[in-house]
Amino acid sequence: MPELPEVEVTRRALAPLVEGERVLAVIVRDRRLRWPVPARLASILRGQRVERLDRRGKYLLWRFAHGTLISHLGMSGSWRVHIGSAPPAGRHDHVDIAITGRRPSVLRLTDPRRFGALLWHPRRFGDAGRHPLLSRLGLEPFDPSFSADAVYRHTRGRRAAIKQVLLAGDLVVGVGNIYASETLFRARIDPRLAAHRLTAAHCERIVTAVRAVLAEAIDVGGSTLRDFVGADGAEGYFMLDAFVYGRGGMPCRVCGTPIRRIVQGSRATYFCPRCQTKGSPR
Ligand SMILES: [Zn+2]
Repeated sequence: MPELPEVEVTRRALAPLVEGERVLAVIVRDRRLRWPVPARLASILRGQRVERLDRRGKYLLWRFAHGTLISHLGMSGSWRVHIGSAPPAGRHDHVDIAITGRRPSVLRLTDPRRFGALLWHPRRFGDAGRHPLLSRLGLEPFDPSFSADAVYRHTRGRRAAIKQVLLAGDLVVGVGNIYASETLFRARIDPRLAAHRLTAAHCERIVTAVRAVLAEAIDVGGSTLRDFVGADGAEGYFMLDAFVYGRGGMPCRVCGTPIRRIVQGSRATYFCPRCQTKGSPR
């Protein structure tokens, strides 16, 4: 499933190709994504200029003067770029957007499981940030508003385990299950710690660790950028060397203690019982 780093790498791959270019044509072969693709999408976009390609959480935001195209990759979606003409569409190639450029290209949305989305938010409805899918998202991990102070304030009164609070996405977006375990290892915090017991120092370390883990994943993805602009997409997570995730029973890379695997909210959590004692419930 594409996570924030995959979406950010997609954005970085697509932005130089699409920003400032105009839409030549849109072909919608199958409207049945998670929500129906707007029937009039081709006439809405044709001839319009992409001003900027932004990301909010796992949503790509194609900014036009007259509105925003909101795209989500769901469980299995990807955007591929074909310079010049595109090969014949396969059965999962639901949407093509042809754009101008030094050589015109075709951006193709492929989504076998069709949990992705492609929605239009007209400018007259206000900023796309007010769209119901975006308005309740947590803070952006690299935005200065995601601060130790924000984490501290958000977690007062939250008795859920810190791992669960990070996963929930209402504090900060982009911390999926793998990244939550890795973040808490780097912050040396027990994933079972009740969130309201975090100290200011814990919160500082969480902010630093979230950014480090996501930045590393984006960097790893950036090195495979070629895959996104070619015909074959990269699959799976970008994290190459996990400290704890998926390493149950194996020695901690820092202290050698066997990594523990537990289940929290039906999701696997991995941690080092020796390194992650700060704020331990014991
Ligand atoms: Zn350890």
